[in-house]
Amino acid sequence: MLHYTITPRPNAHQWHIIFTFHHSENATQSIKLANWVAGSYMIRDFAKHIINIQATCNGSPVPLTQISKNEWQTPAQSGDYQIEYTVYANDLSVRASLLDNERGFIDGACLFLYLPERRDEACEVQFNDLPEGWRIETTLRQPENQKNHFQAAHYAELTDCPFELGAHIETLHFTAHGIPHRIALSGHYPDFDRQRLLADCQKICEHALAMFLANEAPFSEYLFLLHLGDNIYGGLEHSNSTALHADRKALPPRNMAQPTADYTTLLGLISHEYFHAWNVKTIKPAEFVPYNLDQETYTEQLWAYEGITSYYDDLMLARSQVISPEAYLNLLAQTITRVHRNAGRKQQTLAQSSFAAW
Ligand SMILES: [Zn+2]
Repeated sequence: MLHYTITPRPNAHQWHIIFTFHHSENATQSIKLANWVAGSYMIRDFAKHIINIQATCNGSPVPLTQISKNEWQTPAQSGDYQIEYTVYANDLSVRASLLDNERGFIDGACLFLYLPERRDEACEVQFNDLPEGWRIETTLRQPENQKNHFQAAHYAELTDCPFELGAHIETLHFTAHGIPHRIALSGHYPDFDRQRLLADCQKICEHALAMFLANEAPFSEYLFLLHLGDNIYGGLEHSNSTALHADRKALPPRNMAQPTADYTTLLGLISHEYFHAWNVKTIKPAEFVPYNLDQETYTEQLWAYEGITSYYDDLMLARSQVISPEAYLNLLAQTITRVHRNAGRKQQTLAQSSFAAW
């Protein structure tokens, strides 16, 4: 079992982490941090946010040798290791980590050190000393009666289940084809029509589940982590959750007759990331099995995973009748206009564009 103890230091935007493991051989052990996060195809060098790192073996300090920007090595010594490190977290992004006095967000790839040969081992995460009133939303399993403890079957699951932490997370619930879904809202936002948001999300999810066969859904629960702010937009897909950023104006006002443009954009984002639970999280390029988060992973197929998902995101809104056919055709016209204004298609094939995405 690999164990992580995380203590937040909100005033300093820092996570203090103790990574504990037993090393059974009198040989060096490599310790790494990911360089990119699945779903966002760019080297991000998360290790640059580690501001200190030190190790003990059987309680005594031992030197760590840094052998690359994101890799360290223990001495050739067996024993119980504790790697203690601090990560600066002040990046408001769905693919990063953030900590302040109001909330915390963690995409695991940028926080959890891993042992390259032991990525299949079970992991446990324990949060200590959370600020008063904070709670945590994630899809990782929580052992009974162990507050703020979470378990992952392996590193891939650990880094595929983002965490939202804070005192003011509002969680809304709905089911789609019998599968429990949650929307966890964070940030500051005005009063809005919660029933409308739930009803529309339910229609979109039920439509996607039916299209892909609901009884073979790749998840048994699903979580939308929706952070609202000013002029923010973005999403990152995970196997049974998604992290979303949207403008607070995008929430549906009460007594809204037709969906506003901002709300339609939010529904399109929700539809897009949900569709990814199948297209790229379940059906994926062979190069992504398993994800190699250490270096660029080239594929000529990104256009299929992003392009087909983008084609379906707005289409699902029309098919599930949360927007009218006319509204859908207007969105499609905007997309076609945007594509035709851009000369990129005359320079590169879709495969070349996918390959060069890095
Ligand atoms: Zn996408």
